Amino acid sequence: MILVTGGAGYIGSHVNKLLNNSGYETIVFDNLSKGHKYAVKWGKLVNADLSDTEKVREIFQENDIDAVMHFAAFSSVAESVEEPEKYIQNNYENTLNLLQVMKEFRVNKFIFSSTAALYGIPKSIPITEENELNPINPYGESKLMVENLLKDESDFGPLKYVSLRYFNAAGADLDCEIGEDHNPETHLIPLVLDAAIGKRGSISIFGDDYATPDGTCIRDYIHVNDLADAHLKALQYLEEPFNDSNIFNLGNGSGFSVKDVIETCKKVTDVDFDVKIEERRPGDPDILIADSKKAGEILKWKPEITNLEDIIESAWKWHKKINL
Ligand code: UDP
Repeated sequence: MILVTGGAGYIGSHVNKLLNNSGYETIVFDNLSKGHKYAVKWGKLVNADLSDTEKVREIFQENDIDAVMHFAAFSSVAESVEEPEKYIQNNYENTLNLLQVMKEFRVNKFIFSSTAALYGIPKSIPITEENELNPINPYGESKLMVENLLKDESDFGPLKYVSLRYFNAAGADLDCEIGEDHNPETHLIPLVLDAAIGKRGSISIFGDDYATPDGTCIRDYIHVNDLADAHLKALQYLEEPFNDSNIFNLGNGSGFSVKDVIETCKKVTDVDFDVKIEERRPGDPDILIADSKKAGEILKWKPEITNLEDIIESAWKWHKKINL
């Protein structure tokens, strides 16, 4: 049995689906503060909060848990700047609770949702796992605190973990059963699709004076199914008794600018909409592109849906389903 915390959320629900389709049984543990009940179509849902240590203990008592995949976290950079304490509490302290209960029940396999935000403003591109860690907001800081704890637990205790540092998750399940559904939405692709569907009058580009060919920020958009596949491979990696704890970047390896994303959305949706240039958003690096060679070599992982048009096509299909 695999415990999937945050399995009602965007990335967690896609991983939960894949696990069930790959023969694993799952329990989703989610407080539904950001996730959706409808997204848990596979496995069992426990609606509870990780700060409730007794409840977490009960789940471990009642089920034969082999491994934990930990997605439950707040993930808005802007909110983390407003309320850092909330991020440290939910993302760090609740993870600490979970790890303590795992230790009590001798469950030693842990897969952690980490982030490219650990690298802050990178000094070199593409970003390997060896790049300097220097988060520039409380969200990234809270994730780094967990990674540091995981390293200690693994160096000095029985824990074996894989930390997966995601770049920009995008797209939706190809069967269109689940997808991205944040409220409020802050991510570029769903916001652009909101403009295409008429839910908003225009899309704003946050800065067009970056050091990139078209002046807008470049990001590495990785399809959520490819992320899910990496989690499955990370679990299989941890199931091999001689494999050590490890850390992997997950990106598709090519960068797309904000303007590329907008143009591709216009092409895929066949809708023209207004585009405005606005001020830079604080803390946005010019370029974030992953070097995911390590995941390729060790996990034998390779992203399959790497074309921006295909990624946006899947997001658009889902976007229409939940908005029309
Ligand atoms: N962005 C934008 N307009 C928006 C939302 C985002 O220009 O309405 C830009 C943002 O500044 C960044 C990129 O799109 O350069 C991706 O932002 P997102 O919030 O999707 O992901 P992040 O890279 O912050 O994790």
